[in-house]
Amino acid sequence: MSAEIERCCMCRARFPKRAAEFDFVSDLCGFARVFVVPTPDHLCERGSHIKRFMLYKNLKYKRLKERDKNIMLIDVHAHYDDKRFNDDRDEVIKMVKESGVDRVINCGSSIKSSRTSVDLAKKYDFIYAAVGVHPHDTARTPENTLDILYDLLKNKKVLAVGEIGLDFFRDFSDRDSQRWWFKQQMDFVADVQYPVVIHDRDAHKECLDMVKKYKGMVKGIFHCFAGSVEMARELIKLDYMMSFGGVVTFTNAKLCQEVIREIPIDYILLETDCPYLTPHPHRSERNDSSYLPLIAEKIAEIKNMTVEDVIYKTGENAKRCFNIT
Ligand SMILES: [Zn+2]
Ligand SMILES: [Zn+2]
Repeated sequence: MSAEIERCCMCRARFPKRAAEFDFVSDLCGFARVFVVPTPDHLCERGSHIKRFMLYKNLKYKRLKERDKNIMLIDVHAHYDDKRFNDDRDEVIKMVKESGVDRVINCGSSIKSSRTSVDLAKKYDFIYAAVGVHPHDTARTPENTLDILYDLLKNKKVLAVGEIGLDFFRDFSDRDSQRWWFKQQMDFVADVQYPVVIHDRDAHKECLDMVKKYKGMVKGIFHCFAGSVEMARELIKLDYMMSFGGVVTFTNAKLCQEVIREIPIDYILLETDCPYLTPHPHRSERNDSSYLPLIAEKIAEIKNMTVEDVIYKTGENAKRCFNIT
């Protein structure tokens, strides 16, 4: 059925036989299907892996596209520059594209990773970049950071500044340097007028106070949003959207599911934050954008919408927010 499935989706080992010979045994969500390795001949090198593979481009999604060419499945937050992709980056990115993902925004987290994000955007037509310094990296970023970011913005495929913000959960950089660089970069965004991508972990109040100070001057998204419904409503008033990833599929994600239920779909975006936060039931594995439909599916369930509508709406939101064409 699909010649591109030549590798075990679990460990990426090559199958000795072509995927066309595998049986598709059950339909999970209409987009994703389970396929089973039927005989020992078909085992990948590391054993009998049974795994869903995102075949939706061959299924519903393809039909959806035929109906409306403008529909786009967009991952607004990914880290393909991460070292966990060092061994097979090109293959994964190719697989992601084949799985039907239309656009990916690769988010910088340091100067080095911002540069790599731009390089990835240059190399792959469907990848775009955001450039910025993550709170984890503020203690080590060079003094001329803003000049470098300014230079990187000259590339047309850079769509946003990010990710920037505060992380009081890990505290990898001291809080003073986090605050200082968050403020510097917010001033910078106000200046250059790009959308901003905000990382807020256990720092809801300070992040909200910060974006309030830039009301009317800066807008963008809170990625992996983990705040309350009240905070979400405040952000909407400030023209921010919220992106959600694998966390929505975790059973202990009640708050995040409540936020999704309460806010209009017009403010919701899809993300993976890959290689992190892989959606259920693949939680312990490395994440990539081909899992996006699992997130769309969960949001559809929470909001009582169809998966197609969630993909369509979130795609439109992403286009509007980041000026994606
Ligand atoms: Zn983040
Ligand atoms: Zn991230």
